Amino acid sequence: MSSLKGKIITVVGSGLIGRSWAMVFLSGGYEVKIYDNKAGQASAAIAEIKKQLEELQQAKMLRGNLTAAEQLSLLSSHEDLQQALEGAFFVQECVFEDLEAKQTAFQDVENLVTENVILSSSTSCLMPSNVFSRIQNQTRCIISHPVNPPYYVRLVELVPHPKTLDTVMDVTYSLMTDVGQAPVRLRKEIDGFALNRVQYAIIAESWRLVQDGVISVKDIDLVMSEGLGMRYAFIGPIETMHLNAPEGIEDYVQRYSEGIKRVLNTFGPVPEFSGEAAARITKEICELIPGDQEHLTARRERRDQLLMGLAKLKK
Ligand code: NAD
Repeated sequence: MSSLKGKIITVVGSGLIGRSWAMVFLSGGYEVKIYDNKAGQASAAIAEIKKQLEELQQAKMLRGNLTAAEQLSLLSSHEDLQQALEGAFFVQECVFEDLEAKQTAFQDVENLVTENVILSSSTSCLMPSNVFSRIQNQTRCIISHPVNPPYYVRLVELVPHPKTLDTVMDVTYSLMTDVGQAPVRLRKEIDGFALNRVQYAIIAESWRLVQDGVISVKDIDLVMSEGLGMRYAFIGPIETMHLNAPEGIEDYVQRYSEGIKRVLNTFGPVPEFSGEAAARITKEICELIPGDQEHLTARRERRDQLLMGLAKLKK
């Protein structure tokens, strides 16, 4: 992938995720041009990224081999989309999670770039066939779905449009690997991709267990943070099956599949996430972590510190 070094990536949309992507690409030595359609937003993003890179350097947590100053020298902000796209080989779109906004942004981009530029979307929940429906050449379109915060959580889901070329998937995979992310390939589009489908299954059952009075909010969160989550930070569910029986996965299936199926058959319907249960769950979580900005920011900072430590440990 070193042949891509020195190349330009344009980040369209400079909110939370746009800024994070910029930092990830800079850490890999790529030149990054940021564009935002709200006046002053892209230059404000540069000031924020500068602050974050300097703090990370101070904390010895800066990613990549370049200093904060070297990374910042590769970064520019643009109020003009054409200027922002000049020379780019890869465009990472990070605008609001709104289908119309994304379709319009990609149309604008496509009109200004050559055929071989890869168009990549950060969408969390929109299907590639919808996001790219107004694009003429859909073979160069892909979704690169990051996990918040992408600087510490390395996973990126690569989701193809039905027409996406294999080479587009391969180049994106190599780019993500080159900048230190952990890409996974979905072979076809599916609502929620892989991560959110698994996450929503966990949310749904956690919600049902609290809703049905089986367990408290505090304790269901501990089931994850002190139980399943401890090992899932290092090994996935299938490897867990493989390791949790003396003779491996076939042994596991033989021993436990009847019990798994019996329990799965007791799972309730999709929760409404409203009404009395929602009020109770909100009250319980807010007693543990008040919902004001001060407490939420402090918890997020603590989360990021722990994620940084974990990322270091996993290296
Ligand atoms: P955000 O609201 O923080 O930022 C969106 C930015 O896009 C704003 O600065 C806005 O001015 C800009 N914008 C809107 N329309 C534009 C356009 N046409 N051209 C240029 N800029 C435009 O949003 P975010 O949290 O950074 O999310 C961005 C994308 O990333 C969404 O699709 C979201 O689903 C996805 N995502 C978010 C998270 C998360 O946890 N926040 C995680 C993974 C993926």
